[in-house]
Amino acid sequence: MLELIIKPRCIHCKSQKDIRFGLCPDCLNAVQEYSASSRCRNCGLIIRGEGTICQRCLEGSDIFDQAFFLFPYEKEGRTLIHHIKFRDRLEWLGILNGAETVWRPVLENWSPDAVAWIPSSLHTRWKRGYNVSREMANRVAKILDIPCLPLLKKAKLFKRRLSATRTPGERKQVIRQFLKGPEIVPEGISHILIVDDVFTTGATVNRAAKLLKQAGGVAKVSVFTLARVCE
Ligand SMILES: [Zn+2]
Ligand SMILES: [Zn+2]
Repeated sequence: MLELIIKPRCIHCKSQKDIRFGLCPDCLNAVQEYSASSRCRNCGLIIRGEGTICQRCLEGSDIFDQAFFLFPYEKEGRTLIHHIKFRDRLEWLGILNGAETVWRPVLENWSPDAVAWIPSSLHTRWKRGYNVSREMANRVAKILDIPCLPLLKKAKLFKRRLSATRTPGERKQVIRQFLKGPEIVPEGISHILIVDDVFTTGATVNRAAKLLKQAGGVAKVSVFTLARVCE
């Protein structure tokens, strides 16, 4: 009886079979081996139509050069990220290792020189005690065998969390005040991989890419996130 009560359930579909990283085999498979029939070859976004490049990349207004994400920010992936970020399940970032076959070849092909992460605001750090992006960046850098550098810093403390912003314009404004780039980038680092948990509008990574490129010596900025909002 007791066993029935404490047996873990899938955080997404509530199934009780073989739970790993909080998910049942079906839900875990959906995030670890996510595949869309057609993804933009520049940013990984799902393309619903003809072509190999999405509309956004065709417009060419992004400052980062290329991007990739593991799964869309919806369904099981969204539930998983919510638990990692807000329910102290940092160890579930281990799914990155399980999904190595999906993201590792893409990132190795890009061959960045170093990894940087998006800093969290002091407010969220204080609440959670850790920065998911930094933890993720450390794991990715270790697997790719390249340095993980503290190139991006937070400029000052914000009372309002970034996630509380409502419009893209509002978000852009908060980010502009929030991020600070490096004064110098170590010699020999010309291609930086920015790691973050969720790619929402791209405003954060674009700001980060701009700051890194402004610092000099950086010619290319790639982006890797666990999830991306696909609408
Ligand atoms: Zn499930
Ligand atoms: Zn694209």
